Amino acid sequence: MVLRTPVYLDHHATTPIDPRVLELLHRVQKDHFGNPASAGHSFGWAAARLVEEAREKVAHLIAGTAREIIFTSGATEADNLALLGVAEVYGTGGGHVVTSNMEHEAVRGPLAEFARKGGRITPVKAGPDGCVAAADITSAIQRDTILVSVMAAQNEIGTLQPLARIGRICKERGVLFHTDAAQAAGRISLDVQRDGIDLLSLSSHKIYGPKGVGALYVRRRDPRVTLKPLMFGGGQERDLRPGTLNVPGIAAFGEACRLAAEEMIDEAVRLRGLRDQLWAALDGALDGVYLNGSSEKRLAGNLNVSFDGIRAHRLLGALTVLAVSSSSACSSIETRPSAILEAIGVSGELAMASLRIGLGRFNTAEEVDFAADKIIEVVRNLRG
Ligand SMILES: *Cc1c(COP(=O)(O)O)cnc(C)c1O
Repeated sequence: MVLRTPVYLDHHATTPIDPRVLELLHRVQKDHFGNPASAGHSFGWAAARLVEEAREKVAHLIAGTAREIIFTSGATEADNLALLGVAEVYGTGGGHVVTSNMEHEAVRGPLAEFARKGGRITPVKAGPDGCVAAADITSAIQRDTILVSVMAAQNEIGTLQPLARIGRICKERGVLFHTDAAQAAGRISLDVQRDGIDLLSLSSHKIYGPKGVGALYVRRRDPRVTLKPLMFGGGQERDLRPGTLNVPGIAAFGEACRLAAEEMIDEAVRLRGLRDQLWAALDGALDGVYLNGSSEKRLAGNLNVSFDGIRAHRLLGALTVLAVSSSSACSSIETRPSAILEAIGVSGELAMASLRIGLGRFNTAEEVDFAADKIIEVVRNLRG
């Protein structure tokens, strides 16, 4: 079999749409153009039914109920709605939020806006294993803390955060708990009841669905979470996210969630096998390779590796047959260390020489062997 290059190994950035999801997307786009808000005829009813079926499927993936799902344009919008929407209602011009020091920009951005408006933030430091300690969350909570926001899985190093323990602490202290689960959804089991989650952000394009759609889970009882919307208009999505719904995107996102729920366990086993095969090959053939972040508490498909004595931009420049990413900030002439790796205490030199590899649903063992050979070859050449 001929390998097609470049081999896509960047599934934390985005995932290809699953052909089964694409088929539904096409069909809805073509056959069901009705506006779900058109309550007076069958075109509207059909569209509304598709949206409600999708809502059930999304809710099922995280053990929530359909009424607690608000469709958005993606996880960025869901994070903004969760953080700023909560701050407006519970913070009233101030308040305190506990977060981690490894959050995605989609959380860091709205929290910076919250701080500009007079809020205070405590970013809890992750340990060298890339995980925050639940005890540190407890210590960071203050009298006026309104919210804890800690991501479920880190987008560069794939590390998993102790959601259930943080959820329990938040319940005890009467603080809301938000998690950005864009990377974790469909990859690990998420359960808003078991994990004590009040708000949860999802992205369709990270789980083999189309881009431009996502959702925010908003708890409706114990406690009932109230949000102030970011936009105003036609009253869709319980007034929290007005605008005509992206029916094909939402239906496809729902199907992507259904498939993920069904296949998650087998897929994780397969990806973990491929990931371990890749790590064993690199670690066996090369000196000075380091795995960043915990080897156990991480997503099955994630590998984040640093190579002694090598700059990420030179590595990427020579690895054109692989679509991988560097967590370092690269320009053509200089590399700045990855903020995430620095946050977990990786030294400057190694933080400039990291490769993020994200394996996904359609990667094969042949592709992984090929990737290992290429990386080994390029690292040896650059060092030699
Ligand atoms: C990709 C990603 C986002 C942004 O999601 P979009 O749907 O592209 O807006 C937010 N948070 C994390 C952790 C992500 O990986």
